[in-house]
Amino acid sequence: MAKIHLLLLKTSEQSLVIRGFMFNDSKNQLVIKENKINFTKYYKIVSSRTMILKGFDELNTFLSKSRNIVIVGHRNPDGDAMGSTLGLKHYFSKKGHSTTVVVPNEYPDFLHWLPGSESTYRFDWQNTQSQKAIKNSDIIFLLDFNALHRVGHDMQKTLENYSNEFAMIDHHQQPDNVKYMYSDVEICSTCQMVYQFIEMNNDLDLIDEDIATCLYTGIMTDTGSFRFRSTTSKTHRIIADLIDRGAQNDKIHNNVYDANSYGRLLLLGQALSNLQIFPEYKTAFITLTEAEKKKFDFQKGDTEGVVNYALSLKEIVFAAIFIEDVEQNIIKISFRSKGKFSVNQFARNHFNGGGHDNAAGGRFEGSIEEIIETFKALLPKYKNELNSSYEA
Ligand code: 5GP
Ligand code: MN
Repeated sequence: MAKIHLLLLKTSEQSLVIRGFMFNDSKNQLVIKENKINFTKYYKIVSSRTMILKGFDELNTFLSKSRNIVIVGHRNPDGDAMGSTLGLKHYFSKKGHSTTVVVPNEYPDFLHWLPGSESTYRFDWQNTQSQKAIKNSDIIFLLDFNALHRVGHDMQKTLENYSNEFAMIDHHQQPDNVKYMYSDVEICSTCQMVYQFIEMNNDLDLIDEDIATCLYTGIMTDTGSFRFRSTTSKTHRIIADLIDRGAQNDKIHNNVYDANSYGRLLLLGQALSNLQIFPEYKTAFITLTEAEKKKFDFQKGDTEGVVNYALSLKEIVFAAIFIEDVEQNIIKISFRSKGKFSVNQFARNHFNGGGHDNAAGGRFEGSIEEIIETFKALLPKYKNELNSSYEA
């Protein structure tokens, strides 16, 4: 078989030449073929080695007319889900579309101040309005999740029967195959991707205070206030630009992080006193039972971030929280890690879950006692990986 040698020549910021050499034995001559690839303006702006951009030109043509758009976030929406869906909604409204955000269920109190939050439909509560909005839409945008099951059973069924196309903007691994896609697992947040989506459309000047506030919020919450490894210089440049365009950073941090109830702090105290540490595996976990949640008047969002206290221990690289949820009859799990140990893989392999390399979640059917036993029994298998995960 003939050997082909490929040479990549970068000719400018906008193009790349691929030159192939092959020696043709029968004719005793060297064959050289050359192909020039011109990047579209989108690639120039946001390209990265992990980006998937599919159907973008077609999507832009589709959106060149005024459309009815529904934007959906995942079940138990967090700051990134709410910030990205609302940020994109404000942007599409400015582009002349009619846009509705539909989320599967309740989201934490500390996100209700977000601009546009009051017009959001909750699929479980406002089912008729949500179904109607979905049925009347020309396209659905799926934000901050990679697979339809992440919206929960009932809403998943509705989406599976949807007859128009989906567009996905998301940073989770292994995205479902939809017609239009902008996926990049190396970007810290879907909010940063929405910013870059607006940038790709040459529309940064449309970013006003509302859009800037929503996008800032999701970038802040998904990066642990700009401290996780996924935070890049580009993230900081985007954050700076969002401040210039009206995001009030002190107000946003205050609204999200300094809005605790007394009960939430007491619940945190309970969680910390339930902490168990396994130094030989550099692992720690926290548990919360339904009874403990009740005792401290648990509200949606109260356990958000609690797992990070386990990870904040010196020498700990793997942290988990197991939270009893009688409503769903499961144990809801969050995993966090420092360094190379992939909690996404761990959650996929053992707990029906997924997420990112350093932050993932999953579920377990059984009691708190059973999950503790199951989890502890898994640790020896990962001893080497855990011990070499992170060098400070
Ligand atoms: P959290 O622990 O904050 O709930 O979630 C951390 C990350 O894991 C998020 O990016 C979230 O989307 C993802 N995640 C949480 N729970 C699940 C789950 O049950 N399945 C999958 N595939 N991902 C999850
Ligand atoms: Mn996210």
